Amino acid sequence: MMELLTSGFGVACLVVLLTAAAVFLLAGGKKTKEAAPPAGADPTTKPTVNVTKPVNGKQRRRRVAHLDDAPAAKKKGAPAVADIEDAFKSLVPITLKQMKADGITPYTAEERRAKLDELDASDYPNFVAKVQQSGQGPLTRKPATVFQANIGLHCNQACTHCHVDSSPKRKEMMDRETTDRCLEIIGNSPTIEVVDLTGGAPEINKEFRHWVVGARALGKRVIDRCNLTVLLEPNQQDLVPFLVANQVHIIASLPCYLETNVDTQRGDSVFERSIKGLQMLNQAGYGTDSTLRLDLVYNPTGIHLPPAKSKLEGDYKRHLDDKFGIVFDNLITITNMPINRFYDYLKDGKQLDKYMDILVDGYNPATVAGLMCRDYISVKWDGHIYDCDFNQQVELHPKAKGGCGLTVFDIDSAEELLNIPIATGKHCYGCTAGAGSA
Ligand code: SF4
Ligand code: SF4
Repeated sequence: MMELLTSGFGVACLVVLLTAAAVFLLAGGKKTKEAAPPAGADPTTKPTVNVTKPVNGKQRRRRVAHLDDAPAAKKKGAPAVADIEDAFKSLVPITLKQMKADGITPYTAEERRAKLDELDASDYPNFVAKVQQSGQGPLTRKPATVFQANIGLHCNQACTHCHVDSSPKRKEMMDRETTDRCLEIIGNSPTIEVVDLTGGAPEINKEFRHWVVGARALGKRVIDRCNLTVLLEPNQQDLVPFLVANQVHIIASLPCYLETNVDTQRGDSVFERSIKGLQMLNQAGYGTDSTLRLDLVYNPTGIHLPPAKSKLEGDYKRHLDDKFGIVFDNLITITNMPINRFYDYLKDGKQLDKYMDILVDGYNPATVAGLMCRDYISVKWDGHIYDCDFNQQVELHPKAKGGCGLTVFDIDSAEELLNIPIATGKHCYGCTAGAGSA
């Protein structure tokens, strides 16, 4: 137990507990913004804390788990897929029911942009000026190495921190014409090495497999940003073999190894299905075959930055292997961006100032060289080009065509973007705090 609590991951989960306690106190009518954990609270002996989670203006009562709630250790060796009780039964009805209970509805484009404008009107220092003052400016592009396409906003989940505002209610999908135009640009751009497919749940788009096959035919490495639960959706029974056949690199979200913490952020039943999804991938060779790379993504479940990656990765590997027989390659740590649903979560919990203080105070000039806006192209489902997926989700266009929207039908190769200035805002501090955000 103490080993856990002194580990990076243990600290992360402890911070979740203390943050949850603070949010609970606030929701209970306390006026202090920095509510302290209960005096003398001992996380090694207290099993649970109740938390009120604000989402889209409504309150959701949740239980935040203690480390002792971790399921009993299982023998190594994943169960056969046939043993999975609810495999290939859709998560969507559960998600929709929870969305209704929580009052989550999709934002309009204007609402998303209004949140960004509100943040930009705050007193925090201008991001570009901060970069310049730290000796890292100007913020210019390098030749693009990654073509990231957000091919659809439909998702079988509706996570509380989702910067994309995805859910089963989003129907926007990239069509075949836009897909083929993107592949044409990739073919014309020798500097691009990786095609990174995201969403929503990108696999749900009927063009997903056309994308993968097309990019592989161009000799590019393909990343699938997989939410894991999609692997158990009823019409995806042949998805894992398809991913294996095309040696698709899986980057999958798993913000904690405790069921309650994952389900609080990502929705009911998500943890159990994610574990099953990982076991299916392991059975197919992911995580052990060097050509089938499986990386996991940690993002904080509370108001804090990710802890040190190296220790956290070791803790993840040990616990997932011990409890579920799961293996994976690398752990990627990301910071939650103060936009869309997470912005509302912070505001409703009166935690926005506290979180922005953490991001701005945590500014790390060493992260600037690796910012994704410098060597990524980010394309929206409708073909619009952005500097990154975050800017895409808040309708912040690059500074081209008067900022009114450059599309894949306006360019022939990635090289044409090199001299276009990058659009920034105060949300950008989410990319430069601490060790940065991949
Ligand atoms: S965070 Fe990922 S899995 Fe969750 S709703 Fe958004 S796109 Fe879907
Ligand atoms: S949010 Fe986008 S534009 Fe801003 S620093 Fe991050 S990657 Fe760059």
